[in-house]
Formats: sequence, structure tokens, C-alpha cells
Amino acid sequence: MSIVPLTELGNPLLRQPSTPFSDPTSPEVARVLANMRDTLHAYRAQTGYGRAISAPQIGVLKRLIYIDTADTTLELVNPRFERWSRDEDERYESCFSFPGMWGLVQRPLSVVVVGWTSQGVEQRIEASGSLARIIQHEMDHLDGFVWLDRNPDLHSLCTTGEYEKRYTSR
Ligand SMILES: [Zn+2]
Repeated sequence: MSIVPLTELGNPLLRQPSTPFSDPTSPEVARVLANMRDTLHAYRAQTGYGRAISAPQIGVLKRLIYIDTADTTLELVNPRFERWSRDEDERYESCFSFPGMWGLVQRPLSVVVVGWTSQGVEQRIEASGSLARIIQHEMDHLDGFVWLDRNPDLHSLCTTGEYEKRYTSR
């Protein structure tokens, strides 16, 4: 287990599609997942931000995401969407592959995603609200997309300093 330097915007790895693991229970999955977990937690300890991470963000072009919020811990190996809601909402997003920038992004309000745990258990997650948004943000990384590709309202773009001043109570 170790903390891995983050793949930042401009690194071509962040713009490539990832491939599935042939076996969700392989030692490779456990190794990559442990590094993702350590890297996410280190980033959060340092910045106060970061609720999820995708394998491409530590330079591994594999379909694996890890989510760790106050409410939910989720590992999804080879995830795929089963459904998106027609209803959408618009929320601020940022990404630690290009930190310090926030913008309003429109996305479906709820999703159903299917994936495996590293123990080989198939899970079907019905998510709405912030969890649905996090899942969609991380799934985008697996296809080489970042939130800037989702047509954010360019006039909403702001720095972390302005975001905190205007949109959070922190
Ligand atoms: Zn991101």
C-alpha cells in the first residue's frame, strides 16, 4: 500500500479509456484499490477535499472506482450504468486532477450502477443526489472524460477560495 502521485490534467493518461479487469478478485485489483484508498485519504488529510477516486487518477487505466464519503464506502470493479434518470440537477464539482477550480455541471439526478467488489460480489447501487453525482464523475474518468467536458456553465467557474466564500458554510 502506498500513496501514489496523482495524474493531473495535461497527462494523456487522464484522457484515455480504461479497460476492465478480467477477474475482480485478482491480487492486482486489491493492490490498485489499496493504493487508491491510501492516495484518497492522504489527499483529504492534506486538503479537506476528496470523496472518491478512479484508477486512472493514479495512472492505472483500469475500470475501478473507490468512493468514501461520510455516508458510504464503495468499491466498484468494472462498473457499468444500468439506468440514468431523466431528471437532472446542477451542482458544483471539482476534481483533484486539476484542483482549485469549481464549476456548475448538469447531470442526471439519480443512476443505477452495477459493479463488483474485490471479493467478487456483484452489487447493484441505486444512487441519487450527491452519491449519484460522485459515481458519474468517477465513471467519466474511466472513459477519459473530466467534468470540464460536461459543458459546465463557464460563468460559474471559480477558485476554491471563492467557492468556499460563496457556496459553503465552512
Ligand atoms: Zn475527478
